[in-house]
Amino acid sequence: MKRIITLLVSLFLVFGCSSKQAVSSLKDGTFTGVGKGRNGDVKISISIKDSTIVDAEVVETKETAGYGEASTIILNKVIETNSLEVDAVSGATFTSNATFEALKNALSKAGGDESLLAKKVVEETSKEKETIKESHQIVVVGAGGAGMIAAIEAKLNGAEDVVIIEKMPFVGGNTLISGAEMAAPGNDLQKQEGIEDSADLLYEDVLKAGGNPDLIRVLADNALNDSKWLSEVVNVEWENELMFFGGHSVKRSLIPLGARGTEPVGKLKKKIEELNIPVMLNTKATELIVNEKNEVIGLKAEGEKANYEFETKGVILTTGGFGNNVEMRKKYDPNVDESVLSTNAKGIDGDGIIMASNIGADLVGMEYIQLYPVCNPETGALLYVDDTRLKGMTIMVNKEGKRFVEELNTRYAISMAVKAQTGSVGYELMTKKAAEEAGVLLNHKSEVDDLMEKGYLVEADTLAEVAEKMGVDAKTLEETVKVWNGYVDGGKDLEFNKRGTLYKIEEGPYWLVKFAPAVHHTMGGIKIDTQTHVLDKDGNVIKGLYAAGEVTGGIHGNNRLGSVAITDITVFGRIAGQTATSETK
Ligand code: ADP
Repeated sequence: MKRIITLLVSLFLVFGCSSKQAVSSLKDGTFTGVGKGRNGDVKISISIKDSTIVDAEVVETKETAGYGEASTIILNKVIETNSLEVDAVSGATFTSNATFEALKNALSKAGGDESLLAKKVVEETSKEKETIKESHQIVVVGAGGAGMIAAIEAKLNGAEDVVIIEKMPFVGGNTLISGAEMAAPGNDLQKQEGIEDSADLLYEDVLKAGGNPDLIRVLADNALNDSKWLSEVVNVEWENELMFFGGHSVKRSLIPLGARGTEPVGKLKKKIEELNIPVMLNTKATELIVNEKNEVIGLKAEGEKANYEFETKGVILTTGGFGNNVEMRKKYDPNVDESVLSTNAKGIDGDGIIMASNIGADLVGMEYIQLYPVCNPETGALLYVDDTRLKGMTIMVNKEGKRFVEELNTRYAISMAVKAQTGSVGYELMTKKAAEEAGVLLNHKSEVDDLMEKGYLVEADTLAEVAEKMGVDAKTLEETVKVWNGYVDGGKDLEFNKRGTLYKIEEGPYWLVKFAPAVHHTMGGIKIDTQTHVLDKDGNVIKGLYAAGEVTGGIHGNNRLGSVAITDITVFGRIAGQTATSETK
């Protein structure tokens, strides 16, 4: 017995000791690590010397546009602090987590973990931030779609000194997370399909929501031309087919490559770099500076390391809407309280509307807040699987298995109809083949995987099975589909008069997707004229102040039609760039 104990003690000493020695420091060298990102693996590499990360870089990433940059932002901070105790990049949690996973993976290959990184004393930055004064011809506030377009157009029109300030660590705003389809009446794809369309028809469609006819006229008249500007000047590429959004009379919406905002945002960013337009990230505008005549002569902003006071001849506000500002939402529409989720990107807090309103700008249509009907019932993220509906190949049912709305009605009508159903949720029924044809599996596979994992998307070979899996009434669903297919045979939806081509729901496997509405677009905002001048409550121009995009109100009335936001930011973003340039020379 004594011998056994002695043996155990000596074994413990041997292994205890040697394993302790093996992990007491990290190996020198370069190590790669992999983490699972939104669109695939994020691969990074780190170089270690004396338990210190001396270099780190992204080797491979499928994360696009702004999201991809989150990895670089984290790696830079990791080098700076020699630790993994670094904040995730707000608004890019998924990519941030993938980067941390990859870092841990690389450290394990170096023979340890983050606890072995040498402690680095980081200088305290508790002293008062200094205020830096800068002077620029034009300051654009917000690097979403409208902001980048305005800055590009300003530069192309001869503005010598344009800067963009952006409060988030990356560009893109809501434009980045949108599908970014663009209504462009009279486009070539429509001609190929024999669809007759015109600026007048788009004008009529948009006007139905009660917006300002003058602004809508400008929007409709420039839509086609500005879609070409995006293609020819910014190099945005489009898919070879169109999408049919609810509330439009005809199918007219161009789809960017990959059917998401990463294509236009990525290309706009490239153009901004090409034109040497500085973008100050992590810099939040807080206040407009005016003179005694209430003309805008500058802007205050807060940066990470310093505050700024810009002296400028022109400020273009392109800060987006107020979808994430619950207090503002409740003030203007008490129904849209904290219980309602939001599809919006982080940073969309109504800042521009507040700043403009503080110097007397008029606001219009603030009570009109749009819910997007088909969102993740848990996070509020807009669901791209819904592209199948926009191609006409989906029906919507409730928990009882019954249709309850025209699937291509306006977002508002569908959202309100869903809110009235059991559990305030709806279910989209489609065949897997239809989802495939709509490009969902090609473009949005990670979303599909995530929804399946969480049980918000179920697949089965028969209608009864798919209904049971999702907890929807199976018998009624079968009956609903039978009746629907009958309508398709007859060429008319006798219940809800669904527009566009009608498609049968025939062969399994079937998909049933649970969804809920979430705040998507705020139609109200700063009142502008057709040249994007900001107007005060007496209808006078506030000199030196321009606004474009979702920060403005009055264009979309009580309901923005799908794919008209990109038309709006392009048309009015360009005009803002042109007007500000000509008036600040
Ligand atoms: P739009 O569609 O009108 O272009 P987006 O939502 O795409 O609007 O972009 C708005 C951008 O403005 C976002 O990138 C957002 O982070 C940025 N932003 C919002 N408030 C501020 C602010 N106070 N200072 C700087 N940037 C801001």
